[in-house]
Amino acid sequence: MGYYGCDQSDGYSWHAVGPDFRKKGARFNGMSNRRRIRRRKQLRTEKSMEDAADSRTGPIGSTTTIEEIDILWMTAGLGCDGDTIAMTGATQPSIEDIVTGALPWIPKVKFYNPFLAYENGDEFVRPFREAAEGKSIRPFILVVEGSIPNENNKTEGYWASFGTDPVTGQPITTCEWIDRLAPNAWAIIAAGTCATYGGLHAMEGNPTECMGLPDYLGWKWKSKAQIPIVCVPGCPVQPDNMMETILYLLYMTSGRAPMIPLDDALRPTWLFGSTLHEGCDRGGYYEQGQFAEEYGSPLCIVKLGCWGPVVQCNVGKRGWMGGIGGCPNVGGICIGCTMPGFPDKFMPFMNQPPGSLLSSQAVQTYGRAIHALRRFTQASLNKEPNWRSRTKNSPSH
Ligand code: SF4
Ligand code: SF4
Ligand code: SF4
Repeated sequence: MGYYGCDQSDGYSWHAVGPDFRKKGARFNGMSNRRRIRRRKQLRTEKSMEDAADSRTGPIGSTTTIEEIDILWMTAGLGCDGDTIAMTGATQPSIEDIVTGALPWIPKVKFYNPFLAYENGDEFVRPFREAAEGKSIRPFILVVEGSIPNENNKTEGYWASFGTDPVTGQPITTCEWIDRLAPNAWAIIAAGTCATYGGLHAMEGNPTECMGLPDYLGWKWKSKAQIPIVCVPGCPVQPDNMMETILYLLYMTSGRAPMIPLDDALRPTWLFGSTLHEGCDRGGYYEQGQFAEEYGSPLCIVKLGCWGPVVQCNVGKRGWMGGIGGCPNVGGICIGCTMPGFPDKFMPFMNQPPGSLLSSQAVQTYGRAIHALRRFTQASLNKEPNWRSRTKNSPSH
């Protein structure tokens, strides 16, 4: 009958190798059976600790499936480049953290964005051209900023372009770039509300008939790595939301993260799963029915037009740059810029959202009563217990 013993060559592997030494009093290599079992447990513990240490601190690239990747950031949609500008203020992580390899477990990243590039003209367009032609030696993440126009709704001219065709000398439209790049992309991120859902430029009646990337490529589109379009809305995008999403995808390239979780609007769920209201600095005032009637007040600004209770956005908690700012935190009403229905469904911006009329009236009745009761409790809590005194037994205390 065989037994499972320690193969001394590696100290960790257990094989069926010989007679059963588990019998009471049996000895193996000079060790008592009990000692041998204890040693076996010890080796297993050491092995699992080493494995865990490997997975935390293993050299960068040791488990990387993609070791170098390009980020090709196109600002050639209909937009204002505001998302690129916003991204320069990111700190969690910053662009520098990514491109200098300051973070563990991410591939080497080459970042191509027209605002940040030293190159210009054809030299800047070259990596985009190579990627579009399938000649790029590295996989790439395509980032699209700005909405995608309908180039088929006119007989001549074009709405948006980027670079020129070396053969014809004609502008290459943004749509042509997306058509050529998307099939070769490892993943695609739509940056900002214009690129995600059309944004301001897609308002009803706009002559470009522009749209977001999911409307252009299809909501069920997936990259060659089977990743859906990742939408990071915001006008502009909250900088850390953008860079954190890029970082998540970079962790995916090294097998360090599972498939990115997205909601029905293709937004990362951990960033857009809560409403602005749920993380707002002014939420306590709302609950107590204390509403501002004019700007400059610290009270809840729902009556001035804030859509926070129904808008999925995290800037109330996250702030804008380095944890500072964020629309309602600094007195700005939320106009719903992260939502697919923006802007048409949120207009006119400065009016109280119709849906909030009933809820704010209801909370006002309850909130004022609760607020008054809290004042009593607060007054009591603002006094120390009466035994904390040298004269605690004094009747005058
Ligand atoms: Fe500019 Fe806003 Fe469009 Fe971004 S989403 S390109 S910031 S208009
Ligand atoms: Fe909610 Fe807006 Fe009031 Fe903040 S300011 S508590 S988000 S309604
Ligand atoms: Fe946009 Fe509202 Fe978030 Fe401000 S708080 S970024 S307006 S969704």
